[in-house]
Amino acid sequence: SGQDTMLEVEDLVMTYGGFRAVDGCSFAVREGTITGLIGPNGAGKTTMFNLVAGAFPPTSGRIRYLGRDVTDLSTDKRFHLGLVRTFQIPHEFHRLTALENLMMVPPRQSGEGLLANWLSPGRVRADEERVRARAVETLAFLELSHVADERAGNLSGGQKKLLELGRTMMTDAKLVLLDEPAAGVNRTLLRKLEEKIAILNRERGYTFVLIEHDMEMIEKLCDPVICMAEGRVLIQGDFAAVRSDPRVLEAYLGET
Ligand code: ATP
Repeated sequence: SGQDTMLEVEDLVMTYGGFRAVDGCSFAVREGTITGLIGPNGAGKTTMFNLVAGAFPPTSGRIRYLGRDVTDLSTDKRFHLGLVRTFQIPHEFHRLTALENLMMVPPRQSGEGLLANWLSPGRVRADEERVRARAVETLAFLELSHVADERAGNLSGGQKKLLELGRTMMTDAKLVLLDEPAAGVNRTLLRKLEEKIAILNRERGYTFVLIEHDMEMIEKLCDPVICMAEGRVLIQGDFAAVRSDPRVLEAYLGET
């Protein structure tokens, strides 16, 4: 059900030298939500994402995903469990078209694995057709069909963000970590991006955690909102409650 806990972060700490970038964070993400992660610069949000995605191990603390302790699992293993962090389109992929960018996304490993495909050339072709059809459908969903054959490097900032979302969709992700989706996106495409994230959440079963400085986007999409400051969770609640909390106002005022 929509009430199930999908991700649980428990007393997470990440230190660099003596500096505690994440300083004992605990929170849970419920399945079916779009959870917002806000906080002033340097609060530790990106470090938190890196820890949840498995980019490096925490100094201490545990991360549970779908009831399983994933603290010691690689990024790759987490990816195959459907825990996916979006990344900017790699530079080498800028020469590829939008459609090719979607087709290049490795699938999450299903029961049969990849070896069966390698052993049967006919199967590979059948698979490529299926992947292409899916990429075409994904571009249509994102209203990017008109730039299917455009090189990714030539797309606008907003189109690139939509394409990144599309790359995530190609993996059948369950929990998607979005790092500042609104950054560098013009107003028109911002509305479109918000609309697509909302549809993926409501109609296609994706759960999102979203780091964002654009408070309009947070207000529109996110419930609950978690506010971090100085490596800690200050408060969690709906947008109105978080925005008006004196500790949150103070944390943002202290921002350099
Ligand atoms: P922003 O909103 O500006 O992206 P953030 O909330 O994402 O900020 P982080 O990027 O997680 O914050 O950084 C938290 C703190 O940890 C910052 O003071 C940063 O300088 C520090 N930090 C992050 N990565 C490292 C690192 N590899 N080595 C040393 N310090 C780091």
